[in-house]
Amino acid sequence: MKGYITDYDAEADTLYIAVPNIGGIGLLQEKEVTEAEVELTLIDGRLITPEQRRKVFALMRDITAFISGETTRNEIRSTLQSMKLQYLTDTADDCVRFVLTDNYCRLQGIDLFSLSPNSENCASRELASDFIDWLVNLCVENAIPCQDTLLNRTEDVQRYVYACVANRRCAICGRKADIHEVETVGSGRNRSKIGHVGQLVEPLCREHHDEVGNIGQKSFDEKYHMQGIRLDEHLCEVLKWKKSGRKEPHSKN
Ligand SMILES: [Zn+2]
Repeated sequence: MKGYITDYDAEADTLYIAVPNIGGIGLLQEKEVTEAEVELTLIDGRLITPEQRRKVFALMRDITAFISGETTRNEIRSTLQSMKLQYLTDTADDCVRFVLTDNYCRLQGIDLFSLSPNSENCASRELASDFIDWLVNLCVENAIPCQDTLLNRTEDVQRYVYACVANRRCAICGRKADIHEVETVGSGRNRSKIGHVGQLVEPLCREHHDEVGNIGQKSFDEKYHMQGIRLDEHLCEVLKWKKSGRKEPHSKN
């Protein structure tokens, strides 16, 4: 059973614990509990949360599995080189987390942090959030296969979906994606003549694109906690999609 503190008495540290009441009988009464040992975990609101810590470890597991999945050392070298991850070349599996954290800190110009709330230099919630999304982005840019959809790991869905569109990766499963147009162009407008800036899109592989067709956009978005993003000029350039409706140098019409 897990609960949350919703209020407290500031003078004396007294906590009141609400226990679910089912059908008019309290849970403790129903189980005939008169004495119980209760474990209390206090989470410092400013520091990395247990959920964020789980996300970091899950991402590190997937990145490590990807690196050690390569067959020969030379292959690892060329793969990591092309991924600009050559600093991981000679890293033993159990050091990947340290090396990635160290590199992130150097890029950010900050001191090395710890994920342990008992440590003096424990990461803040805000820093952990940015670090998680940096790792998520690394997985998107390098097409690193992950055990769970990165939608469940990212701290910022819009930032993640943006990176997926730019890298043409399915936001659900990470496979190669097409850009799915969430809003269909209204009747009477020629699709080839309109610009794409502002268009609402989702990057989806064939399978997940078909699923939208089967269950509908709304159910699909709810099922995966998916949010489309609107194309900006940068994404139109990356995708080589026409930005505005007025200029149309390659039009056949
Ligand atoms: Zn997919």
